[in-house]
Amino acid sequence: MEFRESHVYADILIIGGGSAGAMAAIRAKEVNPSQRVVIFEKGHILYSGCIARGMDALNIVAVPGVTTPELYVESNGLACGGIMDEPVNYLMARRSYPMMKKLEGWGIFFPRDKEGNYELLQVHPRGKFCLAMKEPELKTILAKRVLGLGCQVFNRVMGLQLIVEEGRVAGAVGINIRTGELIVCHAKAVILTCGGTARFGLPNSGYLYGVYDFPGNTGDGYGMAFRAGAQVTGFEYTLNYYIIKDINAPLLYITLTRGAHLLNAMDVHFEDSHPSLQSIALEYRKDLGPMRVSMKHLPEAKIKEIEDILFSTERPVQERFFAGRGINFRTGDIELWPTEFYLCGGHGLTGIFVDEKATSTLPGLYAAGDVSLVARGHLSGAFVFGEIAAEEATEWGQRNTLGTSDPENLEDLKRDLRQRMDQKDGQVSIEEFEYKVRRLIDDYVTPPKNEYKLKMALWWMERFQKEIREKVPIRSIHDLFKMLEVENIILCARLSATASLERQESRWGFWHYRSDYPQKDDSKWLKHIMLKRGSDPEEIQVSHRPLTRMR
Ligand SMILES: Cc1cc2nc3c(=O)[nH]c(=O)nc-3n(C[C@H](O)[C@H](O)[C@H](O)COP(=O)(O)OP(=O)(O)OC[C@H]3O[C@@H](n4cnc5c(N)ncnc54)[C@H](O)[C@@H]3O)c2cc1C
Repeated sequence: MEFRESHVYADILIIGGGSAGAMAAIRAKEVNPSQRVVIFEKGHILYSGCIARGMDALNIVAVPGVTTPELYVESNGLACGGIMDEPVNYLMARRSYPMMKKLEGWGIFFPRDKEGNYELLQVHPRGKFCLAMKEPELKTILAKRVLGLGCQVFNRVMGLQLIVEEGRVAGAVGINIRTGELIVCHAKAVILTCGGTARFGLPNSGYLYGVYDFPGNTGDGYGMAFRAGAQVTGFEYTLNYYIIKDINAPLLYITLTRGAHLLNAMDVHFEDSHPSLQSIALEYRKDLGPMRVSMKHLPEAKIKEIEDILFSTERPVQERFFAGRGINFRTGDIELWPTEFYLCGGHGLTGIFVDEKATSTLPGLYAAGDVSLVARGHLSGAFVFGEIAAEEATEWGQRNTLGTSDPENLEDLKRDLRQRMDQKDGQVSIEEFEYKVRRLIDDYVTPPKNEYKLKMALWWMERFQKEIREKVPIRSIHDLFKMLEVENIILCARLSATASLERQESRWGFWHYRSDYPQKDDSKWLKHIMLKRGSDPEEIQVSHRPLTRMR
């Protein structure tokens, strides 16, 4: 098969049209309406990403007179096991209130009480930062704004490879996941906003796509950045959640902050009014699970309020799910189970390393949202750093000219894609292969970890990387793009095992728990583990970086 190509030119290319990407595009047009902004989006911008449609809270808003950015930095530092760069988190909190007011100005609804106060919920160790939002159309509102401002959106285009010229990022190549057409975008700056690695471990249900986070996020941004030479960090923090069994949909913040009870399997009520995921995980690991959320004691009005959020704003499919299971919150409880393990900068501590300007360690490359590390920034972090990335990329674009893509690299890429398409003889379908990779990730990359398991992980991932080019038949463009996704998952597993081997301690609760180094050791390990590509593209170089404190 021949891969046709078309070339487009942009001041800023954004890869990933989710929360951070949409906000970056809007901001880029606000600061300079005449600049050309192009988005590659693997799905469709109207419904893609963590906010498939709506969302029920902005998890971090420092409302003046109630909390402060300084308190947020203190509080989030506790929630991150100490691994947090203060300046980026401070900046995010400082811009969080103006961001919320801007969204409100766009018609997004943030409920207030009779006195006009916003509804604030406590989900952090200190301070009420979680601000309730009731907006079932959040994603469509953002997407329409992006299109209305004249950004050029390429839906169903997966960012494949960054173009690096003379040490700076000068665009990227994407592939249309239905036609195989290559889109070569020459850009002065690139912003990566393509989420974390949602498809990493396997969910209990065994469904490849039945994951908590958006299943289109397969660590492509981590892969593109790493292969181009940018530094990434926090890959040892393999995260999972404890939420609704089998559907892996969110509800903890929504129910517990509104008076629901959390019970263990022995019917013992969890006393803590805002239990952390880590304390729930601990209970589960004491063989006291499954935990349950119980609302039977709540007044009808409260249950209705919760149903209203769960069945409209966040994931409306929950209504059908509970009906199908015969669960009514007035009479029955909601069973919770651990989700699959995943990698994420927004809920977790994994990402492309960025500074206060959303700048990566590669000139011309910016990153925002779950693909970058602004520890546990959630939606607030995606929005604020989406804006910052756009502002900084605009300024960079004013100082730099467009590059011309290196045709040699493009020919190499096309040759590689053709070879993959010629791979017809294997016996393992790409879906079965993905299942196997992720099963082995569960076995060897997730906690409890130890040196033996992590070395086995590296052995397996090396083998998978070879076998995917031999044993998997590629019968269509669909198979081809799944194969490219699975290769990114394999790379993420290698990065995760490498970082986990390096960090010879346990940190951030169960999420980096090493049974051979069960203690936390601040004297040696209160720092980042940084990963970077070596001169051989397969080599992962490891270094350490001190945490950045407020000056
Ligand atoms: C179920 C759930 C509930 C949440 N609830 C809340 C909440 O109530 N409050 C809160 O503050 N936070 C919440 N969060 C967190 C918050 O939604 C995320 O941190 C935030 O949306 C991340 O934005 P993002 O742009 O980085 O990623 P996303 O919004 O996921 O966007 C990534 C986009 O990149 C695209 N993409 C992926 N790979 C490629 C590629 N190779 N090329 C092109 N495009 C690509 C994807 O299709 C997707 O559209 C929740 C998250 C989840 C998963």
